Amino acid sequence: MAKYKRVLLKLSGEALAGPNKTGFDEATCLEIARQVKELVDQGIQIGVVTGGGNFWRGRTSKNIDRTKADQIGTLATVMNCIYVSEIFRSVGIQTAVLTPFACSSFTELFSKDLAVKYMEQGVVTFFAGGTGHPYFSTDTALVLRAVEMEADIILSGKSIDGVYDSDPAVNPDAKKYDEIDINEVINQRLGVIDLAAAVLCMENHMPMMIFGLNEENSIVNTVQGTTHGTLVTA
Ligand code: UDP
Repeated sequence: MAKYKRVLLKLSGEALAGPNKTGFDEATCLEIARQVKELVDQGIQIGVVTGGGNFWRGRTSKNIDRTKADQIGTLATVMNCIYVSEIFRSVGIQTAVLTPFACSSFTELFSKDLAVKYMEQGVVTFFAGGTGHPYFSTDTALVLRAVEMEADIILSGKSIDGVYDSDPAVNPDAKKYDEIDINEVINQRLGVIDLAAAVLCMENHMPMMIFGLNEENSIVNTVQGTTHGTLVTA
């Protein structure tokens, strides 16, 4: 039995690239689509925020203006959302792609009312284009939209299966948390999400589940409460 009615799912750019590390890995995206379809069929409302790191990040270039570099990163998230939305459609999911700035007829302009309407109709709603501003991240956009949409929880699928007290790739004795408070994430600078996004979570009491996207059926298991990720309470 699902624990949540409305969730926001974060797919990092890296996750979409799969083993390719850049661009899209269609098999990875189809597997995500299969799981999302299972949840939509159970009546769970799903919003999606993607990263852009499979193409570009604002910090990729040291030579060009940061605002312009961030605009490129922001457009990468739009490409990602259009792609994943089409993969979702190919397995029978209804989708909409919303952006906080006009992209002609490629996307629809974000408003809370439109997004709520779509989500209530069972349309998987993509929040593309980040916050629409430079110097922010897709993590910040994720928390912002989760709070605006009054989501029950954020589901953040990562290449790592939860929050650790130190980097398990460096420290073999690193301890994984089953549950941790967002204040501890902030105070210890645990780097689960960037600081601005973490503060937004704390101020608005938005919980977050961090789980390993590569684990079998992990999105469905997380929604059903049978995952072994880390719950970040807020
Ligand atoms: N970005 C931005 N404003 C936002 C969201 C994203 O400027 O509100 C840009 C920023 O340059 C960022 C890039 O988009 O580096 C891609 O996002 P992110 O690094 O969060 O992607 P991920 O690492 O999750 O793939």
